[in-house]
Amino acid sequence: MREFLFVIFLFSNAAGFSQTKTYTHADSIKGKITKEREWWNVLHYEIHTTFNSNDSSVAGKNNITYKTLQSSQIMQIDLMAPMQLDSAIQNRKRCGWKQDGNAYYINLPEAQSANTINNIELFFHGKPHVAKIPPWDGGIIWKKDLNKFPWISIACQGMAGSVWFPCKDHMYDEPDSSSFFITAPKDLVSVSNGKLRSVTEAKDTKTYNWAVVNPINNYNIIPYIGKYVNFTDTFMGEGGKLDLSYWVLDYNLEIAKEQFKQVKTMLRCFEIWFGKYPFYEDGYKLVQSPHLGMEHQSAVAYGNGFVNGYMGRDLSGTGWGLKWDFIIVHESGHEWFGNNISVKDVADNWVHEGFTAYSENLYTEYLFGKQAGAEYVIGTREDVTNDRPVIGDYEVNRDGSGDMYYKASNMLHTIRHIVDNDSTWKSFLRDINKTFWHRTTTSKEIELYMINYLKLDLQKVFDQYLRTTKIPVLEYKLTKNELSYRWTDCVEGFNMPVKISNGKSEITLKPTTTLQKTKISENKIAFDNNYFIKQLELK
Ligand SMILES: [Zn+2]
Repeated sequence: MREFLFVIFLFSNAAGFSQTKTYTHADSIKGKITKEREWWNVLHYEIHTTFNSNDSSVAGKNNITYKTLQSSQIMQIDLMAPMQLDSAIQNRKRCGWKQDGNAYYINLPEAQSANTINNIELFFHGKPHVAKIPPWDGGIIWKKDLNKFPWISIACQGMAGSVWFPCKDHMYDEPDSSSFFITAPKDLVSVSNGKLRSVTEAKDTKTYNWAVVNPINNYNIIPYIGKYVNFTDTFMGEGGKLDLSYWVLDYNLEIAKEQFKQVKTMLRCFEIWFGKYPFYEDGYKLVQSPHLGMEHQSAVAYGNGFVNGYMGRDLSGTGWGLKWDFIIVHESGHEWFGNNISVKDVADNWVHEGFTAYSENLYTEYLFGKQAGAEYVIGTREDVTNDRPVIGDYEVNRDGSGDMYYKASNMLHTIRHIVDNDSTWKSFLRDINKTFWHRTTTSKEIELYMINYLKLDLQKVFDQYLRTTKIPVLEYKLTKNELSYRWTDCVEGFNMPVKISNGKSEITLKPTTTLQKTKISENKIAFDNNYFIKQLELK
């Protein structure tokens, strides 16, 4: 998610973000793979939590199973104030710790040798930071539905999972699986990622156990608690039978049954373009949320009011965006880019958001044809601000500009037209999902993969669109059937090929920053608008 419009309005402009930002010690602790993190690899979280809406508190424990990669005795665990870590237990022994802001450096009872599997139980309680404008700022949401029943959830992308539970809170290391026991008042239903394993009842409460058997980001592990009802369906896809399960508030059942019909069309389209849905074992769920939406893995948050568009609006301004439900399409697109392929550092978040924003135009194309898809993605250029680069700052938990959505998606659209072969382009999108299947990666790795797979010299293209705030300008002059041209406003060595037409046929130019000349048979040219560039005619 990180929905760009609101991020831009509420944070970037209002706060006047500049190109350079100074970072604190706390930013480094949060964003770095510290030595207290790198020696161990998370295998599994078993989280038990009681949610109490009467006093807005949560309490529970996280039992972490991990594998040691090197020997060490100090383990970094993250938990944001005002949440408190009560105790850390290993082999029935209480561990001491040193606290540094939101990081706890836990002193394990014995030095751990490499290549062993251990676990540690972390007990916690408190009143988690409450989200002010979810899903954009992050935190817990204590809401009431229209019938005044409690409706509770969490949105914590950016802020991250440690806003409410103790964990190893860095994107590079995901648990290979996770199990979540949610305890809440008896009259409410609790939903979370993956499949429901059990429901147990006590005097006043019910505990729902949900579990995923695939790697998952911390910010994707989310409870939804409310007066939910459920309806189900199945989808026969590339991985066989996929369970579809929908959870909505009781009074929205009928409208949801109608709106959620789009899910199967969306899944069909994305399996064609991106390959098999990445989490067949965990099923696909859409869960009504007390905020607009988020890509919570196998339990996608839906709060778009059961209307098409982005809360009824079209982000592309072309009309195509009103023909489908933005949250169903965008947030589910993240199952491939974001949840299947995840970045190690949020600075590279364009890999999540750029490809997913690009999926919106592929969906438009799937429904209405190639021209419609192109119009959609080209329309979203209006939303590009070039305020700062798409790639953020590394090791400080700082992502890049909101342009990671539509500038990056337009870069991908441009590259598709450089490739100029839809079957190669489709194979690339499918194979990248296979190559990086359930993995964390970096922008650099993705760029190299694209350069090698597509056999194109794209490095300067990536540098231009992802690492500067400039849109390249093609300067040209046409006199007596002779066209002079060159790139300006670009990185050194920028060499992106570009297509033009002389009214009769297409010509591929290979401009550089040095002026070149070529003969044109007709004394006129037209540019291909699929390339995200500017043109400047020299008089
Ligand atoms: Zn998104």
